[in-house]
Amino acid sequence: MAKTYKVLVSGQVQGVGFRPYVYNLASELALKGTVSNNTDGVIIYISGQTQTADKFYSRLVKNPPPVSKISRCAIREVNYQEFPDFRIIPSSKEGQVNLPLTPDFAICEDCQKEIGDNLNRRYKYAFTTCVNCGPRWSITRTFPFERSHTSVDDFPMCKSCYDEYINPSNRRFHSQTNTCTECGIAFEFTDKQGKQIETENIFQSVSKLLSEGKIIAIKNTSGYLLCCNAEDDSVIKKLRKLKNRPNKPFAVLFPSLDCAEKDLDIKHQEVKVLKSTERPIVIISLSNYIGKIALHEVAPGLNQLGVMLPYTGILQLLANQLDFPIIATSGNIHGSPILSNKKDVAIKLNNVADYFLHHNLEITHPQDDSVLKISKKYNIKTLFRRSRGYAPNYLDIELHTKEKILALGADLKNSIAFYPNKHLYVGQYLGNLENFDVYNRFTNEINGFTNIFEQKPEVLLVDKHPNYQSTQHGIELTKKWNINLYNIQHHKAHFATVLGEHNLFEDDNILGVIWDGTGYGDDGNIWGGEFFRYNSRNIERLTHFEYFNWISGDKMSKEPRLSLFSLVDESFSEVINSKFTSEELKVLSIIKKSNKLKTSSVGRLFDAVASLLNICDFNSYEGEAAILLENLVLEYNIKNCKDYCDGFSGDFISTKQILKGVQIDLNNGIETQQIIANFLFTLASTILSVADKNYSSKICLSGGVFQNTTLIDMLIEINQNKYKLYFNRNLAPNDENIAFGQIMYYLNCRNKENS
Ligand SMILES: [Zn+2]
Ligand SMILES: [Zn+2]
Repeated sequence: MAKTYKVLVSGQVQGVGFRPYVYNLASELALKGTVSNNTDGVIIYISGQTQTADKFYSRLVKNPPPVSKISRCAIREVNYQEFPDFRIIPSSKEGQVNLPLTPDFAICEDCQKEIGDNLNRRYKYAFTTCVNCGPRWSITRTFPFERSHTSVDDFPMCKSCYDEYINPSNRRFHSQTNTCTECGIAFEFTDKQGKQIETENIFQSVSKLLSEGKIIAIKNTSGYLLCCNAEDDSVIKKLRKLKNRPNKPFAVLFPSLDCAEKDLDIKHQEVKVLKSTERPIVIISLSNYIGKIALHEVAPGLNQLGVMLPYTGILQLLANQLDFPIIATSGNIHGSPILSNKKDVAIKLNNVADYFLHHNLEITHPQDDSVLKISKKYNIKTLFRRSRGYAPNYLDIELHTKEKILALGADLKNSIAFYPNKHLYVGQYLGNLENFDVYNRFTNEINGFTNIFEQKPEVLLVDKHPNYQSTQHGIELTKKWNINLYNIQHHKAHFATVLGEHNLFEDDNILGVIWDGTGYGDDGNIWGGEFFRYNSRNIERLTHFEYFNWISGDKMSKEPRLSLFSLVDESFSEVINSKFTSEELKVLSIIKKSNKLKTSSVGRLFDAVASLLNICDFNSYEGEAAILLENLVLEYNIKNCKDYCDGFSGDFISTKQILKGVQIDLNNGIETQQIIANFLFTLASTILSVADKNYSSKICLSGGVFQNTTLIDMLIEINQNKYKLYFNRNLAPNDENIAFGQIMYYLNCRNKENS
């Protein structure tokens, strides 16, 4: 006897070809019924024999469409219904959106083939997409994911596209972003005066201009990219000057994986990520580099390179014409958000780019490229920037609260998080809120989230830092919405991210090692070298790096020599005198004497060591000294490393002792690489000493310092599986994760706070 079943699927199931897949599966099994998107995911009704329905369900769960991610799936029998056939029916929107927001997907192999095939009707069509690939979040206006809810809706389908769309056997059956040369998006190629450039083949022309040393602003589907030849040092120099970005490394787009592999040693784990649907920039070691990239301009002082492969039809068509790698960096002035519309670009990039390749697809959510690195020895994957491809979702986490919570994160690498219903959304990396345009994007993102989910938060979480822009804005919003505000300490939020990511809140006696540049501490000092214990839903500060003077405010993180000055005694006077004028020293000595503000920042300790080793006295970008420092360790033998603290025994970790150790080695003529290895070894050893002392069996590590993958490798090596180590997995360890941590802390630890 035939029965009717209702199947509910939630997770990343919209905009990923789920309905056409279900249609074909049901048709193949001769089941009748319907499938539609709703605000919770996908809802399916099937009528047929129980055995067939079971077969349908198990195949759906075991083998879903390639870019989908099922988080929950359930089947149950309902009242019998007769269906004439199997149909995809229009989305129903009952209630608020309650499903993951689909991120952008890199161009798939099939589409890649089509645009390179002169017999295909999409030959050279840059906006070729299908159910498995193309922009999603960057063109989303609202949800559920339907063409009419995206900016592709501005381009009505031509007959050929529509025929594909309604044909169940076509691979573009129900592909919401379907367009072609006939009906689709069009380019506009101009010089900097806005004069149209006539050309038969746009990408050939772009490639030629790039080879001639021109800078071109190319509108991609997630925002503008500034492109130039990566082998031409003079154009990169020019780009640096115009973009106001003196040293921060640029990522390089290789025409293909083959090209990249010719020049670089790429591990198979890195290849996998380079080719993934998220397709981020992957930071790859330059050891054995044999190519012609102008490295001293692309990645000054570094032994690593950010590498990416084409991820859209636009970049693929350009790549097809290129026989050299190019710089492809976010289209903005350094520190501002990535630009996405012609008007802004005309104003802001007119002095930067020589030519502009615009198009008329509106980008509703501009996104930067994501960045990650895989550690050399143990292949630990660390996200540095979470944006295109990864944001704005956080999957597979169940929270048990009805409260609607908005968290505003930190200031320097802001991202926000929202829990409006059953899912937790962690927004993309937005940048430094000190920048006016980034701040605007931050407030827009808050509006965007509250609009899409049609929910107003009931509680707002901000950092404890009273002067953060995000804290200030939070105070304004709580007044406007008449809701509660809750401040959460920065490093406790970091700790809570790892506890949350690994579902450890039910455990006890976990050591939290949270190291970063700065964060406002419970005692009003600037924390950043923290050890916590998590016990019974409470986070308690165990110990920290010994306090030293925080001098000259924000300048301290920009000038590593100031950290050195703050940390050392008279025995370092020779080196100190070489780094400051006598006038400067006079002023600094007075400041140091009367200074009350202290810090335990490990970020500043890295700065001091980099300055002492004459690697960097001034940071031209955030974390430069620490990055340069790590970079100098090309290899190390753990057996030859020494611990400057000689096993931690006192109440605090002695920063001065570490500096002293470095100085002695330096005076003894030990080579820089070995001194840095010793320094990192000291840090790793300290973690284990603190764990030994506190009988913890699990260690969670987070904060910007843990972007240092050499430190991670060393820790894993000396740990020898004694302790279970937990790092951030789907989030960056830096301040991008604070918003998520604020929600985790609020839900799990706030009731145990002493305040
Ligand atoms: Zn495709
Ligand atoms: Zn068309």
